[in-house]
Amino acid sequence: MTKCIEQDFPCQNQEYDAFDQIALLELSQPISAHELVNESAFCAELPVDDELRIGNITYKLYLKFLRGQTGLYHLWVDYDACDDHGNYTMLCVYVGKGFAELRVDSHVRKKWSKNAQLYVTFTSMENRLSKYYEQLFLDVYDFELNNIENPGAEYLFAVWDEERHHLETHLNEVSNLSKIQSFDDW
Ligand SMILES: [Zn+2]
Repeated sequence: MTKCIEQDFPCQNQEYDAFDQIALLELSQPISAHELVNESAFCAELPVDDELRIGNITYKLYLKFLRGQTGLYHLWVDYDACDDHGNYTMLCVYVGKGFAELRVDSHVRKKWSKNAQLYVTFTSMENRLSKYYEQLFLDVYDFELNNIENPGAEYLFAVWDEERHHLETHLNEVSNLSKIQSFDDW
């Protein structure tokens, strides 16, 4: 028996039917929840803990890739990991919209405890669409850090493979931006 089955956490073929069915009724070309949470163009673990920071790579360096972009973002923490399938199950704790660089920076400064891990996914889109998707996520799922207009009850999980979880989508660019020349120094 695999670890995910034995311990009963999402790992294979995670479904988002409740979300997708509503979007399918209301939008002509909806983006699926799977695309938004598991295939977003931006995905990164932000180094929010100064103690663990490596060289001059701060979380702000990652957020530079979101500069000037508006859209939909999710904040995640690790939930579990399946050794048998090599997947990482992530729990979403916040969904938001707007200028992501500023919004996420504000979360890190005001809400995030220094020693907690933080992953961010982001999909660029027009403001009226990000408003729609944000509200749909809030209607369907329950987020620990969204305190208003959040009637949803289910947890929102993402399932990422090792590459997405460890290497993220912009790690190379971040390292190029930083003054660290060699990853061997890490
Ligand atoms: Zn598994």
